Amino acid sequence: MEIRDKITTFESRPKRLVILMCLMLGSVALHASEWSRVDHPSEGSPRSVGETNSGCIAGAQVLPLEGKGYVVMHIERNRYWGHADLVNAIQILGQKVAQRNLGTLQIGDLGQPRGGPLPFGHRSHQSGLDVDIWFNLKPKLLTGADEMRGNIPAPSMLNDSKTGLDQGKWTDNHATLLELAANLPGVDRIFVNPHIKKELCESVTGNRDWLHVIRPWYNHDDHFHMRLSCPADSPSCRGQEPIPAGEGCDASLDWWFHQPTVTTPKPHPAPTPQLPTECRDILAEP
Ligand SMILES: [Zn+2]
Repeated sequence: MEIRDKITTFESRPKRLVILMCLMLGSVALHASEWSRVDHPSEGSPRSVGETNSGCIAGAQVLPLEGKGYVVMHIERNRYWGHADLVNAIQILGQKVAQRNLGTLQIGDLGQPRGGPLPFGHRSHQSGLDVDIWFNLKPKLLTGADEMRGNIPAPSMLNDSKTGLDQGKWTDNHATLLELAANLPGVDRIFVNPHIKKELCESVTGNRDWLHVIRPWYNHDDHFHMRLSCPADSPSCRGQEPIPAGEGCDASLDWWFHQPTVTTPKPHPAPTPQLPTECRDILAEP
């Protein structure tokens, strides 16, 4: 009996590990779906909580689905909520883009009505301070079938072999767009594909101070990701480490071109930190 118990225990260890891992993954998925199920924000003034990859937001504001110089894509996801500062920044960017006749911005995901983990698509975008904005500045006219704008692909700015930019797609207007975005109030950093950062490093003349916030990152060849700093009204918001001084057109950029690929997802992402307990209360609000 004792021996059999020992054998059973020994044999079931890997199985238990698998079951445990499934339960953990299941709880992560459940956790995320709890947040995606809530279709409206909590009341009160906006307050970002925690980190962008482990946080939430109270009093999120809605980005109107269309405005001057922009349209929101993937409406069916209900991820057009964020801190008032983020909503304002996007609207200002749209206005600047319209004033300069750069085209029309296509706005991808912001966050869920109360932020929090997302069941698919991103690890960040949790505290109402992140937005994805497509590089394509000439969206096709929407037809009835595209009403939710869910099936429209974002075109990459890279060439077919992904060894550099497609110069037929990349234009000076894209550089101007990134400069306008980088100079918006409250912008902490903007993620772009390393090939895009390299292009800016090699081509921007005049004031180059704004290159500081343009950060090379995996993917981001069909959109850029704009992240705001923690707003003053959000004492429990936790920001990232400051970006090293300078334009970033140096060895830290070269590093990317010595990696196997700059277009695949980041390998082995770090474990997600625990959500702040304050977020439970925000989720539970009516
Ligand atoms: Zn993003």
